Amino acid sequence: MSKIKDLLAKKGSDVWSVGPAHSVYQAIEMMALKGVGALTVLSDDGQLVGIISERDYARNVILQGKSSKDTQVSEIMTRNVVYIEPTHAVDEAMALMTARRIRHLPVIADEKLSGMISMGDLVKSIIDEQSHVIDQLERYIKGETAGIGS
Ligand code: AMP
Repeated sequence: MSKIKDLLAKKGSDVWSVGPAHSVYQAIEMMALKGVGALTVLSDDGQLVGIISERDYARNVILQGKSSKDTQVSEIMTRNVVYIEPTHAVDEAMALMTARRIRHLPVIADEKLSGMISMGDLVKSIIDEQSHVIDQLERYIKGETAGIGS
C-alpha cells in the first residue's frame, strides 16, 4: 500500500494558505484560483492555527446570511486541525477522513507543514494502485510475468 509521502512525491507538496485576519472572500478567491476546496490557516509566524473549507463558507456564511467580505477567516475556520504524517499509508488517511467526516488533511513532518491531501487525491491513488494490480494479474494469466510484485 502506498504511503502519503509517495502520493506527495507525485502530486507535489504545495500548500495554499491564508491568514486568520483575511476575509472569507479572499479565501474563496484563492481556493478558486488554485483549484482547491480547503486552505490551511497560518498565523503571522507560520503556525498552523486552523483550516477553512468551502463547506465552512456554505454553512457559516451563505446559510447565515453573512457577507464574505465582512467575515474574517478566523470566525469560521476549524481550529482543531486533524493532520497526518508522510509515513502513514494511504488507506490510514482514508480511514481518518471517513471517521472524522473531512475531505482534507494537512501533512506534517517534524512539526513542519509539508503538504496537503484531499479525498480526491486518495481515491486517485487507490484507483491507480488497483489498476496496476489488475494489469499485473492479466499479464500473469497470459504468462507474460511471474506474478504480482515481479
Ligand atoms: P471538508 O469536508 O474537508 O470540506 O471539511 C468539512 C469540515 O471539516 C469543515 O468544517 C472544515 O473546516 C473541517 N475540516 C476539513 N479538513 C479538516 C482537517 N484536516 N482537520 C480539521 N477539520 C477539518
